Amino acid sequence: MQNKIYSMKQFITHYMYDHLQDLGNNHMNKIALLAIDQGTTSSRAILFAPNGKILAKHQQELKLYYPQKGWVEHSPDDIWINTLEACRAVVKDAQQDNLQIAGIGITNQRETSILWDRATGEPIYNAIVWQDRRTADLCATLKAQGHEADITNKTGLLLDPYFSASKIAWILDNVADARTRAEKGELAFGTIDTYLLWKLTNGAVHCTDATNAARTMLFNITEQCWDQDLLKLFNIPAALLPTVKDNVADFGQSTPTLLGQSYPIGGMAGDQHAALIGQACFKPGMVKSTYGTGCFALENIGTEFKTSQHRLLTTLAYRLNGRSTYALEGSIFTAGAAIQWLRDNLGLFKHAAESEALALSVDDNNGVYFVPAFTGLGAPYWQPEARAMISGLTRESNAAHITRAALEAQAYQTVDLMAAFKGDSKHEASIIRADGGLINNKFVGQFLADMLNRPVEIPTVTETTAWGAACLAGLQLGVFDGLDTLGKQWHCATRYTPAMNERQRRTLYQGWELAVKRVL
Ligand code: ADP
Repeated sequence: MQNKIYSMKQFITHYMYDHLQDLGNNHMNKIALLAIDQGTTSSRAILFAPNGKILAKHQQELKLYYPQKGWVEHSPDDIWINTLEACRAVVKDAQQDNLQIAGIGITNQRETSILWDRATGEPIYNAIVWQDRRTADLCATLKAQGHEADITNKTGLLLDPYFSASKIAWILDNVADARTRAEKGELAFGTIDTYLLWKLTNGAVHCTDATNAARTMLFNITEQCWDQDLLKLFNIPAALLPTVKDNVADFGQSTPTLLGQSYPIGGMAGDQHAALIGQACFKPGMVKSTYGTGCFALENIGTEFKTSQHRLLTTLAYRLNGRSTYALEGSIFTAGAAIQWLRDNLGLFKHAAESEALALSVDDNNGVYFVPAFTGLGAPYWQPEARAMISGLTRESNAAHITRAALEAQAYQTVDLMAAFKGDSKHEASIIRADGGLINNKFVGQFLADMLNRPVEIPTVTETTAWGAACLAGLQLGVFDGLDTLGKQWHCATRYTPAMNERQRRTLYQGWELAVKRVL
């Protein structure tokens, strides 16, 4: 019976796949997938053709509020209105170009938390953003009480204010009546995916996906359920929580009045997980590294959960058909932000792209190292109190050396991460698939390959995060028939191959190690 049901599902999926591919061929790729990419600095909507080509794109800037030192908030209304406006703009483009939107996929900044009234949909407090540190004391207390090991074994995470649990606890403890109302089931909690889904379905669906749930610190990623002990530890009523689904699932339909007609929502994933999917890292040992304001690297480690011995996080890569694939995650707090700092605070150049020619105008760093620990050092150091330092300056040092040192730092930091990955994973990462604004810089691409002593590949689809969300929706809606198809669709646009000798690599890296030691 089970076989028959499965065959029927396969038949329908294949039928739809062929049908949609035909439609695509006969009508010049008229099918499109709408990806919502809700980030910390902007909300974007992108229409993709099934081959990954961008057909339309709109972006709305998003405000951050800093009510106190260490506090970071968004207005939930801003998030929703921004997202809706970006979606409406691409839907309008789709109509003009006669494109048929098959459905919607959502990807989002992770951990950022909102609580709202189930009856009115009104948030009871602003969204507390992942960067917010107001719950540092609570986390330190729980750590001192010895709870971190248990939390890591269940969630793969380290006890840090970064994740949702302590943010939810703060809202419950600081907003009048919040706890009583939460216990009565009057309130709902959501990360941004969940909040957008609720708004898109006009309050009909209160769901999240397994990758976003994995970042709350309340979700047990080995048992795939909300963890009763963790809920008790953070004193959070279960009545607040959304239902957790696979990344590819029926997440409901958008309300027709919002976008002119109703669209199925077929995929959701946190941003870094979506980028891993967009980069088609479906095999153990495959690594994607995104160089934006900060840098996030994820390595697919397969279907076996494993905690890190090198202060990396373990997370869900994705969950499909109820089956979990895990990833190790390392983050570098400052990547492109260091280039912004050179541009805005030191005025070394006007546009970030000019840093490339400047770095290449000198033969080497001339002993200058730049450890960009403006907001502490991330994995594998986890030193939030560390601060940035430029070292090795002489009378000969100039703007080009400092710029070069800032760009080189991206590669040294990645080498540190890869060493931690190697220590934890039995798979050797053979190739790095990179993306993000900073990777437009050819000096960075080549220096990365040189220092890692591995090829670095840049894909043809550069919007990997949004493309990952589109892929998930496409899998649900029969536009793609499986991960293999997506894997074959991934194409390399630029490949940097290592061209540095071992001695030089070692000497450069020793200089970095010394510079980090000084910072620590
Ligand atoms: P985010 O998604 O975090 O906003 P992006 O992926 O858009 O970031 O990348 C923007 C970052 O990349 C900025 O910090 C910018 O300084 C840096 N950047 C963009 N282009 C270049 C370049 N050609 N050379 C160096 N840095 C760059």
